[in-house]
Amino acid sequence: MLLIHCPHCGPRNETEFTNGGPARSTRPEDATHLTDAAWVDYLTVPNNPMGWVQEKWWHNRGCGMWFTIERNTVTHQIQQAPDHVG
Ligand SMILES: [Zn+2]
Repeated sequence: MLLIHCPHCGPRNETEFTNGGPARSTRPEDATHLTDAAWVDYLTVPNNPMGWVQEKWWHNRGCGMWFTIERNTVTHQIQQAPDHVG
């Protein structure tokens, strides 16, 4: 179970949140040259690297705020991202 620190409410159980996916995904430079399958992958398949990633989380069962955290996908250790609100 993850303990997530909402910037507005403080530490809360992960069951109060919804993971919004990667905070920053790189858009293909020239999408007109992608195959349909590659475009669908970009739109629907999030990167899932091992190690530290920045993710958006929504405190949907709390204050309703969206914010960004850094989470280690191997250890599930969490630290706040430098610009964690937004
Ligand atoms: Zn909150």
